[in-house]
Amino acid sequence: MSRIQWRVRELPKTISQTIRFRWQYGKQCIRSLTYNHHMNQSYASDVCMEPIFWFVDNFTHLLGPFFVFAVICLTTAVVTICYWIGLPYWWNRNRYMTVFLMIVGHWLLLNVVYNFYKAASVSPGYPPEKELIAEAVSICKKCIAPKPPRTHHCSVCNRCVLKMDHHCPWLNNCVGYHNHRYFFLYMLYTTIGTLFIISFGFELGYGVLFLDEAGWKEMEPLQGHPVRFNLSGHIIPVTEMNDYEHDGMAPAEHDLPIPHPNDRTETIHGAILFMALINVATLFALGSLTAWHSTLITRGETSIEAHINKSETKRLAAMNKVYRNPYDFGSRQNWRIFLGITRKRTWWRHVLLPSSHKPEGNGLTWLTYEIASDNADEWP
Ligand SMILES: [Zn+2]
Ligand SMILES: [Zn+2]
Repeated sequence: MSRIQWRVRELPKTISQTIRFRWQYGKQCIRSLTYNHHMNQSYASDVCMEPIFWFVDNFTHLLGPFFVFAVICLTTAVVTICYWIGLPYWWNRNRYMTVFLMIVGHWLLLNVVYNFYKAASVSPGYPPEKELIAEAVSICKKCIAPKPPRTHHCSVCNRCVLKMDHHCPWLNNCVGYHNHRYFFLYMLYTTIGTLFIISFGFELGYGVLFLDEAGWKEMEPLQGHPVRFNLSGHIIPVTEMNDYEHDGMAPAEHDLPIPHPNDRTETIHGAILFMALINVATLFALGSLTAWHSTLITRGETSIEAHINKSETKRLAAMNKVYRNPYDFGSRQNWRIFLGITRKRTWWRHVLLPSSHKPEGNGLTWLTYEIASDNADEWP
């Protein structure tokens, strides 16, 4: 009896109550039909992201060649503009400085081109196929094959990659065991290169973009001319003698020469604007990426391992334990191993100059800090 009374009391009386009642009722129906005990927020977001993952997996390798072509075109354009505008500008100012800039600029360019070519063309390294891998620590569910430590499956390349860092569309290649150093040095030298261009091109760029907007000063040098101010306050050369009326007293009426930017100055203006945008954008994008990868190298981890190590640290902290990355040998040794400055190699020959030396080990077996501390003699 009491239940019926409760129900009667709950029944909607007004239109708004009816709508609210219907809405709640519909919601309950849908929930009861779609209820899943395993549903949670991260699962739902994964499902929503699935189309993006599908697109990336299926189209990244198709777009790869276009990205590589874009990098080559942009680099070529930047270098061409340096030769065309930057070099003559410096040559007119200071010849010794120009020689110095030529040497530094070409050293940077050599490293950028070499490391880009190597990062894009050297295979990242794959686990041996149809072979017993003694070092395997797990099985790849997609390849149905054994996986050595630090190996991960790349869904774009559709295969397992040794010490995989990430798949890079700009290189159209996976970054892994064999080409990780080339990838990092490419980013580092490109960042330094853009900083170099911005530093030594700043005055020139600022002058063209903000001071004499049309660049008209270049049309007619001021040296050797009498000058006067025009209406906009610019100093302009007086190229013609004043004409006087026949009485020789009153100056004749005539129009002042109005500077018009010609096609060449417009092109220079466009080129400088392009240089400013592309170099500043690259400096921010690659600069932050280089800084992030430097942090990872200092910690002795890859981009993928950074996520794994973070969640492991959290998981063990909840159990009151401290997690330690097995491949972290201290920042100095981590950098030495990453750059391959082991076995009497030197940083000036193997880092400052292009070098094709191979990384330490075979990519299948990995030293951990525990083994390394026990076998100090085997340490490269
Ligand atoms: Zn795999
Ligand atoms: Zn890949």
